[in-house]
Amino acid sequence: MNLLLFGPPGSGKGTQADFLTREYGIPQISTGDILRDDVKRGTELGLKAREFMNRGELVPDEVMVEMIRERITRPDCAGGFLLDGFPRTVPQAEALDGMLETIGQRIDRLLYLHVELEELVERLTGRWVCPRCARSYHMVNNRPQDDMKCNVDRTGLVHRDDDTEQTARRRAEVFYQRTYPILAFYRQRGISVEVDGQGSIAEVRERVKRALQGQTGEAA
Ligand code: AMP
Repeated sequence: MNLLLFGPPGSGKGTQADFLTREYGIPQISTGDILRDDVKRGTELGLKAREFMNRGELVPDEVMVEMIRERITRPDCAGGFLLDGFPRTVPQAEALDGMLETIGQRIDRLLYLHVELEELVERLTGRWVCPRCARSYHMVNNRPQDDMKCNVDRTGLVHRDDDTEQTARRRAEVFYQRTYPILAFYRQRGISVEVDGQGSIAEVRERVKRALQGQTGEAA
């Protein structure tokens, strides 16, 4: 199963990815997580990406396409993968299509998590993340069990540099201008499924499960 998780920043892609990777036994490929790791390690890519990320803008397509090409051809992706945060532009979607075709694969499903703008901003500005495993928490909706530590590996949680209100709004704007249009690309193929991403994590998880089983969830 090659699954594409689609939705604006703060729609819960990373959170739902957690159970989907277990359910399908496939790796999660989050381009945002890969970039953040490079920024932390101070690599050439990290230095290049940092400015774009802090402004809430997209990192150039050439950089992202090469990153994905290298990642999806690794052995752990042979049985499928879950993409989170890629593609984000029409050229990225076209490049992904081309590279999958050359290895005899395709995207099987796109899952769109729909969340209203004000809810996105509220989620992003209240979000804290684990710098080690990238799990997200929220100080109201999804508190860590222990004071500001990751439930899984106990690392101290941090606030992402791009989760300020101004940058969160810019990222949402960039999503609707540059990323949302690629939904049409996948709708045409009849592989997109839309799910209401509002409500508790467990409620959304149930909707996602049902939508992927094809029992409910509007075909987008
Ligand atoms: P995310 O963690 O998915 O919200 O991504 C954080 C930031 O990383 C974005 O605001 C972009 O600056 C950058 N980024 C992640 N994925 C991509 C992509 N596919 N194309 C361009 N920039 C990206």
